[in-house]
Amino acid sequence: MLSRFPSKAATPADLATHQLAGLKWTVRHAFENSPFYREQLEKAGVTPESIVSLQDIRRLPFLTAQDLAAGYPFALRSAPFADLVRIHASSGTTGKRKVLCYTQKDIDDWQTMFARCYELAGLTREDRVQIAVGYGLWTAGIGFQQACEKFGALAIPVGPGNLELQTSLMIDLQTTVFCCTASMGLLLAEEVHRQGLRDKLNLKKIILGAERSSSAMLDTMRECLGVKDIYDITGLTEVYGPGTGLSCGHGSAIHYWADHFILEILDPATLEPVAPGEVGEMVFTTLCKEGAPLIRYRSRDLTRLIEGECECGCTLPRHDRILGRSDDVVIFRGVNIYPGQVDEVLNRVDGVGSEYQVHLGHKDDGRDYMLIRVERAKDGQLPDEQVCKRIISGIKHTLLVSCEVELVEYGSMPRSERKTKRLFDERRFE
Ligand code: ZN
Repeated sequence: MLSRFPSKAATPADLATHQLAGLKWTVRHAFENSPFYREQLEKAGVTPESIVSLQDIRRLPFLTAQDLAAGYPFALRSAPFADLVRIHASSGTTGKRKVLCYTQKDIDDWQTMFARCYELAGLTREDRVQIAVGYGLWTAGIGFQQACEKFGALAIPVGPGNLELQTSLMIDLQTTVFCCTASMGLLLAEEVHRQGLRDKLNLKKIILGAERSSSAMLDTMRECLGVKDIYDITGLTEVYGPGTGLSCGHGSAIHYWADHFILEILDPATLEPVAPGEVGEMVFTTLCKEGAPLIRYRSRDLTRLIEGECECGCTLPRHDRILGRSDDVVIFRGVNIYPGQVDEVLNRVDGVGSEYQVHLGHKDDGRDYMLIRVERAKDGQLPDEQVCKRIISGIKHTLLVSCEVELVEYGSMPRSERKTKRLFDERRFE
C-alpha cells in the first residue's frame, strides 16, 4: 500500500542527496537569521558556501543544552516573531526550561512525521486513539492529538493519570489505541487486571512514548489489556517532539525519519563517530526546521545504529532503543555503566517482574558494591536462588562487574505515572 506520508527522498538511494540539500539549507538559514548560530559558525570558520558534502557536517560546531539555557528563552530563534505560531518547553537538566519555537511549517512537518508513525503502526482511520500523555507546555499531548487528526483517526484527549477516567472512557468509547508512558501503561494494566475489566475492552495497540520499557512491563500490558502490538515512539522537544521515529514491531529497533534530520552516533568523550553498530550519543541536525533549527545538537541519549533492511518494508534507517543517557553513565569499579544495560540483562532472565532499582554504595570496608533490587514475576515459578544466580551471571557477562541481587515481592516497588527512577548512587565521594 502506498504511504500517505512518504519519505521526502524519492528512493533510499536519494536520501544522501536530500540530506545534503537540507544540511546546506539549514546552515544558510541559521547563519543568516540567528545571531547565535552566526557567531558559532564564524568561530568555527564555516560559511554556508563551504558546506559541499555530507562529510562537512563534521566541521560544524556542537550545540548543547547549556547553549539553550545561556540564550534562554529564544536561544535558537531563526525566524521573525511574526512567523512563529507556538512554543513548547521541556524541563532542562540545568534548571532553566528549554524553550523551542515553531513556525506553521514546523508544526505541519511535525504532524506529517508523527502521522507516518501511526501509519507504520498499522492504524486506520477507524481507530479510536486515547491519549494519556501530558498536555500544556509539553510536546506530548498536542503532538499525539494533532497527528491523530491529520492521520484521520479519532482522538480522545484525556491527558495523563486518572485511571478511573481512563478505564471508563476506554470501555464506553471502545478505544482501540492507547498512548501513554510505559509506567502509565503498567499502572493501567494492573488496574484493569485488579478490576477484571479486560473482556470489556476493545484495545488493539499501545503506543509508548518518553520512557524505556522492559520486556516484563510489555508482557504485563499484553496480558492484562489483551493487546497484541506495542510500539515505542521516539522524539525530543528539541527535535520537534515525539513522532520522529517508531519501533515497527520487527524487533525493538526504531525507524527514524532521516528525511527530516541527520542522526550522528558519536563517542561522548571524543565526539568522533563510533564504529558501525557501536553505542554512542545521538547528535541531531535538522534539515528543514525554521523556527529553531538544530545543528549538531548533543542529545545525551545513547543508542546504536542497526544495519540492514527491515522486514516491515519501511526503508528509512533504524537505531536501537535508547540505551541510557550519557549523563547517567556512572563509573563503577572503573567500568562505564548505564541503566539500559541492566534492563537488557533483566529482560533475558525468566522469573523477574518489570520493576527494579540499582543501588550503588560503599561497604564499611570502603569497597564499592552494586545491589540490584528486583521484583519477582507475577506468577514466577523459579526458585529465588536460581533467578538471582542468572541475574548475577548476566550482569557479570554484560557489564563485567559483580553484583548482589535482592528479590522482592511483585507489586512492592514504587510505580509512577511519569518516569520511574531506577539508579540510586549512594556512594560518597570525598
Ligand atoms: Zn521495520
